[in-house]
Amino acid sequence: MTAWVKAYVGLGSNLDDPEAQIRRGYAALARLRECRDPHASGLYLSRPFGGVEQPDYINAVASIETGLSPEVLLAALQDIERRQHRTREVHWGPRTLDLDILLYGDKIVNRPDLVIPHPGLAQRDFVLYPLCEIAPEIVIPGLGPVGDCLKSCANRGLERLDREPLSAARDDEGAVSGET
Ligand code: AMP
Repeated sequence: MTAWVKAYVGLGSNLDDPEAQIRRGYAALARLRECRDPHASGLYLSRPFGGVEQPDYINAVASIETGLSPEVLLAALQDIERRQHRTREVHWGPRTLDLDILLYGDKIVNRPDLVIPHPGLAQRDFVLYPLCEIAPEIVIPGLGPVGDCLKSCANRGLERLDREPLSAARDDEGAVSGET
């Protein structure tokens, strides 16, 4: 029997129609095998992080219940990024779609290629505000209640956008293939 774990995924984009990238990314996430009950925060406009000159970002946080292991979930997210033509040219540079595992139940993972809770989560307004919107009571392993993290995180001008909610059903890619 599948052991379902609630996972939170951060979505970000600042290239090639970022809002559409986030909508497609969320729809693909919601359709992954062994994933159910997707939910998403609203869309947020955020200032770039890390000092590279680049356009503003659209960000959101989604939750899913998943039967995939953290490693398999990461591979599935990277596959979605690849299908949306993610290229990695500049560290912290512009990207069509960035998908990060923020939390995976209360599990702590420290591997060279996978760190959960996602490192930097506590410093990122564009993660904490949407996370708090969909999981206001959540306690972040090693950090404490999300509300406390939010209070100690600088808001760098984050703006919640008044847009249509993200929809798991949306499919503007045509028949999406390759869900793992
Ligand atoms: P980024 O530029 O944020 O997309 O970084 C991607 C790299 O971060 C990948 O090579 C992943 O192996 C690594 N990584 C480590 N922890 C995580 C995580 N929790 N979620 C996504 N990627 C992660």
